[in-house]
Amino acid sequence: MSETSPKLRAELDGIPTYKPGRPAAADGPVAFKLSSNENPYPPLPGVMETAIAAAHTFNRYPDMACTALVNELADRFGVPVEHLATGTGSVGVAQSLVQATSGPGDEIVYAWRSFEAYPIISQISGAASVRVPLTAGEVHDLDAMADAVTERTRLIFVCNPNNPTGTVVRRAELERFLDRVPSDVLVVLDEAYREFNRDPEVPDGVEIYRDRPNVAVLRTFSKAYGLAGLRVGFAIAHEPVAAALRKTAVPFGVSQLAQDAAVASLRAEDELLGRVGSLVCERTRVHETLVKQGWTVPPTQANFVWLRLGERTVEFAAACEKAGVMVRPFPGEGVRITIGEDEANDLFLRTADAFRNGG
Ligand SMILES: *Cc1c(COP(=O)(O)O)cnc(C)c1O
Repeated sequence: MSETSPKLRAELDGIPTYKPGRPAAADGPVAFKLSSNENPYPPLPGVMETAIAAAHTFNRYPDMACTALVNELADRFGVPVEHLATGTGSVGVAQSLVQATSGPGDEIVYAWRSFEAYPIISQISGAASVRVPLTAGEVHDLDAMADAVTERTRLIFVCNPNNPTGTVVRRAELERFLDRVPSDVLVVLDEAYREFNRDPEVPDGVEIYRDRPNVAVLRTFSKAYGLAGLRVGFAIAHEPVAAALRKTAVPFGVSQLAQDAAVASLRAEDELLGRVGSLVCERTRVHETLVKQGWTVPPTQANFVWLRLGERTVEFAAACEKAGVMVRPFPGEGVRITIGEDEANDLFLRTADAFRNGG
């Protein structure tokens, strides 16, 4: 027997592992999870019944083409079914986009800090990450991102609103940026938090993509629609991009539970978007209270707020955990806090105030 281990691709060395938001401690007095940008509302009764009904057939493979969901989405967004591709969460679709476009020797451009899945899926592909720092206001620096494009660039992520800062790019600056990007470079507008946006100057990616064949829009059912645990997201893109996604998707990746629950959620959209409205009100309250307490908080259009705490990040996260609130620290940089149940937000705000006043 040989002593050597199976040969693995060198690209896998040093890939940062995705750190999920830590769950609430089971033994604490009160414990809220504000670390993963999840929807705090439980599943809607009608959606739950649909998922339970689908569970009765899980001895069968799901519909591989996600026919009912794709038809529903095509109607909802007014796009051809050929422009839709589904996946195991929009992270699954993002990974397919990277695989379909990029490999060793290529470059993928994105803002930093942004969504932590981007460096992981880029590195797996063998392409190099080109990270363009956010501006002092925590916003994508689109001019610098356009400047960073080279002959090797294959894909650019624009996360709007941006995770973890909640900041947005507006229509005029995005259009100007897209006009500068060569038409053979794919620009992915990651709109995971689109439904939480209330800034009328922030464009709907679906409108932007219509006359731009090099733009793909990513959306997810995980956040506003509350289906994070079911893993379903989708892309809207022209062919051949959408067709490439359907080719590279993991066969049968999206379960029938997820497909049926997603269709039911689209049909219950009024109710779900009402919940989003309540979360947006809570976001305003949390943001305003933090500002009153003296914190610097960038304006947010997502379901979270960002505190750039630098060296005090870990200490702050520990204080929150001790108080019964799990938040998401990025050591040395800052803390992202999801807008949750009113009670959780209250507890977080009291903890933040106490921290400012020295404990
Ligand atoms: C949460 C999130 C997603 C969506 O993840 P899913 O895989 O759909 O659960 C995508 N992009 C960003 C920026 C996110 O924060």
